[in-house]
Amino acid sequence: MGGARSRFLSQADQLARGPNGDIQFSDTNKGSEVTDEQIKIAAKHLLLGPVVAFTGAGVSAESGVPTYRDPGGLWRKFDMKKVSHINSFLKDPVSCWRFELELYRLLQDVQPNAGHFALAELEAMNIVSGVVTQNVEGLHTAAGSRNVIELHGNETWALCLRCGHRCPSNEAFKRVGWLSSENTIVENALPDISAILRKERSPNQAKRRSKKRSDSASSSSSSSTPSPPPKRTQVVSVSPGSPRPRSASRPTRNTRRSESVSSSSSSEDSLPRGSNAPPAPPGAPTCLECNGLLKPDAIYFGENLNTKTLKHAKRLFSSCKAALIIGSTCKVAPASTLPVQLRSRGGKLVDVNPQGSRLSHLADSWLKGPSAEILPRLAKAVAELRCENRSYVF
Ligand SMILES: [Zn+2]
Repeated sequence: MGGARSRFLSQADQLARGPNGDIQFSDTNKGSEVTDEQIKIAAKHLLLGPVVAFTGAGVSAESGVPTYRDPGGLWRKFDMKKVSHINSFLKDPVSCWRFELELYRLLQDVQPNAGHFALAELEAMNIVSGVVTQNVEGLHTAAGSRNVIELHGNETWALCLRCGHRCPSNEAFKRVGWLSSENTIVENALPDISAILRKERSPNQAKRRSKKRSDSASSSSSSSTPSPPPKRTQVVSVSPGSPRPRSASRPTRNTRRSESVSSSSSSEDSLPRGSNAPPAPPGAPTCLECNGLLKPDAIYFGENLNTKTLKHAKRLFSSCKAALIIGSTCKVAPASTLPVQLRSRGGKLVDVNPQGSRLSHLADSWLKGPSAEILPRLAKAVAELRCENRSYVF
């Protein structure tokens, strides 16, 4: 999806950068409850030392990246088991790629927001030393962040299971004729999506299910404690630009999806690679280098954690004195344990989240506002405070 990304990068640049390429910090408070004093206190925490940014779905949501479980989200329309589980991919890669085409369609109109650009600026100011993200659409890189660790991979790239070659996913779509050379979707070349759509329950089925649920509730004990949701495994993947090494411990699916899954026991890597990789069936995108089967380079349910990526993230956290947590519920282990560990060794936590996260109560600053508004204010405050400190020294 390199073409789409470069297009929205250039559009967003026009919006957010001035004639000299400087980030244009907005002076307008868009009505959040966060005061300038709160921003200043948070900025002082960030000035204590290298900062790692830890981002989740909330940052992308402010760019209009569709949610998966919210009303209207992709999971409401598509059958997750058929399009995002590694076993389904190995059984029917064409259907999984067909779903990816719908994601590509949605991401074509998505641009980095002011929060993404402010993070990139904080990195350019040597305040933020890197971004650890659970998101998979590449918006941090598109906004100019350089050190980005994508825990759940990057859905805008494709990976050859046989030789490890990576290419933008729009190249994969072109290989099967779903995209023209100008990146236009060739609608009449697309396979039918009916096989991967969620099955709608009939009114009678829905009624029976509802009755069963209420019967079950009334026959249970008087305790109102709900049953825990079924556990799913969780993932971590590689950063873009490097061949994906074998992963090692546990599965999940990316970004917003993984925001609501919990971790469970480890398992063997179920993704065959190299000489064990399955052959590409007719109609599936193939590698330009070796004609092997391409897979979207995001982590699917059932795939294992990538230990190398997780190690990179841990190393980054351990080298920092503060974490800037943005738009993440911090519910997904082991990623969510990284800020906790940083705090336990005396680091500062700044949480930017209008709804709050599991770590908001632990944070030294909790800025209850949207990141597209808060982060530019924070970057501006950091720049001003640093300027004041320098004036004082000299
Ligand atoms: Zn290959």
